[in-house]
Amino acid sequence: MKILIIAEHKNGTLAEATRELFGLSLGQAEIHAVVAGEEVAPLAEPLGQLGAAKVHLVESPALAGGTGESLGQALGQVVPQIGPDVVLAAHTPQGRDLAPRLAATLDAALATDCIQLGCEGETVTARRPIYAGKATAEVEFTDDSLKVITVRPRTAKAPEPDAGRSAEVATVAVELSEQKTALKEIIAGGGERPDVTEAAIIVTGGRSLGSAENFSIIENFADTIGAAVGSSRAAVDAGYRPYRDQVGQTGKVVSPQVYIACGVSGAIQHLAGMRTSKHIVAINIDPEAPIFQLADYGIVGDLFEVVPLLAEAAKNRNGS
Ligand SMILES: Cc1cc2nc3c(=O)[nH]c(=O)nc-3n(C[C@H](O)[C@H](O)[C@H](O)COP(=O)(O)OP(=O)(O)OC[C@H]3O[C@@H](n4cnc5c(N)ncnc54)[C@H](O)[C@@H]3O)c2cc1C
Repeated sequence: MKILIIAEHKNGTLAEATRELFGLSLGQAEIHAVVAGEEVAPLAEPLGQLGAAKVHLVESPALAGGTGESLGQALGQVVPQIGPDVVLAAHTPQGRDLAPRLAATLDAALATDCIQLGCEGETVTARRPIYAGKATAEVEFTDDSLKVITVRPRTAKAPEPDAGRSAEVATVAVELSEQKTALKEIIAGGGERPDVTEAAIIVTGGRSLGSAENFSIIENFADTIGAAVGSSRAAVDAGYRPYRDQVGQTGKVVSPQVYIACGVSGAIQHLAGMRTSKHIVAINIDPEAPIFQLADYGIVGDLFEVVPLLAEAAKNRNGS
């Protein structure tokens, strides 16, 4: 089986979510990677060290912005030339935009936001959350047509690069017609903290914080433990946090090692965005709060007392 990984990159660096795709259990598959953009040749080396047998470079100034439209058009030409059985992309904003376009262009089967993948011989299966994470669907691809699959970030651990490995490198030419969309500007999200989709630890605050200023409690704790700051929708709607921090059905879907929910009730729409976190800690004043049904560890208490204590304990442990 030939698997083609679509490599996502920013500022000359591979996205962590792409590196993680190499950590999936893909059986005896032959792994190829395709990387599209402007001057992407330097990325062939890290892709080879992660385990790609062959890296396909698709270079064009028109791909610099990395819009779904231009990437979709380019990969729609490149993928048939490579001839994989499976195309894998990370379920990031770029992957979410690209995968359906590609599947439609190539008349391929599509499974998105998968949290488990099985490759046994020629059979490919995938698991994906449905009904806002209330249930999990097992998907089996029933014929041998091309399969396009996106995988939720943090589903697998990225392997350590092996400096002794290298990939064969090929350059593929594409002809891009005029685009209907163009990237005009990227407005930086802000702050030094990691984004919730990339962080290994997330500290999330809810409506109970009561004000934007009070979120400094959450920020202090997050900074002490190197975490991202997340937010419930209620806190975003109240203007306490920007939308980019929102976790949930209409926010971001995250899967960190540790998710610490502070004063978050655990509404189903919130759980939809963080249910697959590896370890969930909940701090809530109400012992009946639904979040405790999902949490691995629960603290019944006032977050305004508990969170500063946790931050203090973490600081003492760090010795700083
Ligand atoms: C279509 C749709 C999409 C939605 N999408 C999302 C989404 O993406 N993300 C999302 O989060 N929500 C989403 N929601 C909203 C969701 O239903 C809830 O309203 C929201 O998650 C509640 O946020 P909250 O837990 O911060 O607030 P609340 O429900 O008000 O809960 C506050 C919690 O804080 C606790 N508390 C109060 N004071 C303290 C204290 N001092 N110390 C400790 N605990 C305290 C309370 O016991 C309570 O459990 C969506 C809703 C709809 C209808």
